[in-house]
Amino acid sequence: MAQKIGFIGMGIMGKPMALNLLKGGYEVTVFNRTLSKTEPLASAGAGVAETPGGAADGADALILMLTGPEAVDSMLNEPGGVVEGGAEPGVLVNMSTVPPAYSRKLKGVLDAAGIPLVEAPVAGTKKPAETGELVILAGGDEKRVGDLEPVFMKMGKKVLHCGEIGQAAAMKLTLNLLLGIMMEGIGEALQFGKKAGLSQEMILDAVLAGPLGCPLFDIKSEALKSDEFPAQFPFKHMLKDLRFALDTARETDTATPACGAVAGVYERGMEMDLGDLDMAAVIRVLAAMPR
Ligand code: NAP
Repeated sequence: MAQKIGFIGMGIMGKPMALNLLKGGYEVTVFNRTLSKTEPLASAGAGVAETPGGAADGADALILMLTGPEAVDSMLNEPGGVVEGGAEPGVLVNMSTVPPAYSRKLKGVLDAAGIPLVEAPVAGTKKPAETGELVILAGGDEKRVGDLEPVFMKMGKKVLHCGEIGQAAAMKLTLNLLLGIMMEGIGEALQFGKKAGLSQEMILDAVLAGPLGCPLFDIKSEALKSDEFPAQFPFKHMLKDLRFALDTARETDTATPACGAVAGVYERGMEMDLGDLDMAAVIRVLAAMPR
């Protein structure tokens, strides 16, 4: 059973997840490209590695929670990286959101290096990461996923084994395709109603009171009402995942017209410098858009 955990990526999600592993009694060594972000972990008792390979050395499991493929590749292959440095963690658990095709490619790279891979992207954002209530979408060998369950259950409330490598990544993008469309949808509906003379507060109350009410709209209602969008799920990461979904749709010959249109709206938001705000700031794009 995994006892020593290496953890690379102390972003919005990685930091609270690593803290929960520490609280859960695991011995945790962290690495982050920007060293200052490891300070809260060091204060809580984690070891801090000087290189990605240093976090992997002697780890029963090495967890990556990074932006996407480019960041994962860099943590594996740069000087002092996990593969470059010849580290041999018991298993590498990639929890970053990446496309299924990338996850399958990563398996080939790690197979060659003798490192087993489990993919485990998550559903849930900053708050459930803090409270240990993420849903872990796992892909890979069933026994390996089973062995990791105690580790996952320190960070999450449920583990869903989606199938072989690539299928958990596909599940994550399936969820985020829906998430992006729903977020743009509520933004568009609010904009439509406001232009027709309704108050935003009243529209949100009506949505939440009826069959369209859902936890997502409930969670985002405060930000939408106040027009303040501190990042929970960054806007730029929503666009990243919509692009991954569109790439995957091309590969699987699937029609995703709404996803394409919503990605276009998020692209405009990047031009408006909204990338570091929460994805709910899409409402600002809609408010600024000509008809
Ligand atoms: P974040 O706050 O932006 O953190 C990204 C992490 O990746 C940071 O540790 C960053 O290091 C590192 N990184 C980025 N580019 C890198 C590179 N080229 N080389 C090395 N390290 C690099 O993102 P997050 O919100 O924690 O998300 C992490 C992953 O979880 C993403 O795949 C995201 O899609 C997914 N996710 C996020 C949420 C959410 O609500 N936030 C929910 C579910 C899934 P620095 O600190 O040095 O920049």
